[in-house]
Amino acid sequence: MHVRMIPKSTSDRKLAEVATHQPEYTQDNVSGTIVGIWTPEMFHGVRVAGYHQHFISADHTFGGHVMDCVISEGNVEVGAVDQRDQRFPVQDRKYHVAKFNMDELKDAKDKSE
Ligand SMILES: [Zn+2]
Repeated sequence: MHVRMIPKSTSDRKLAEVATHQPEYTQDNVSGTIVGIWTPEMFHGVRVAGYHQHFISADHTFGGHVMDCVISEGNVEVGAVDQRDQRFPVQDRKYHVAKFNMDELKDAKDKSE
């Protein structure tokens, strides 16, 4: 399993900054779960268009965005997702007074995907 992870952003290291360096890790003979979503091109921007998969090991010590993997054994479940639940921190006053830089947000999103 070959994954990459984005280090946690902080108030002094924003997502756009930490997303420029996403360390990659490989582990052999690891068991776990892959969750993947395929998003149609017309929804790119809301989600990443195409296939997007994340992995978490059974012992929760290893995981991230799947770059590549070889599966020797497993179960596959496929289902259609017909809705998306997006939450906003409306109880947090900082959210209401925040001045969002849309170019910076778009750049951070592009780098993190
Ligand atoms: Zn990802």
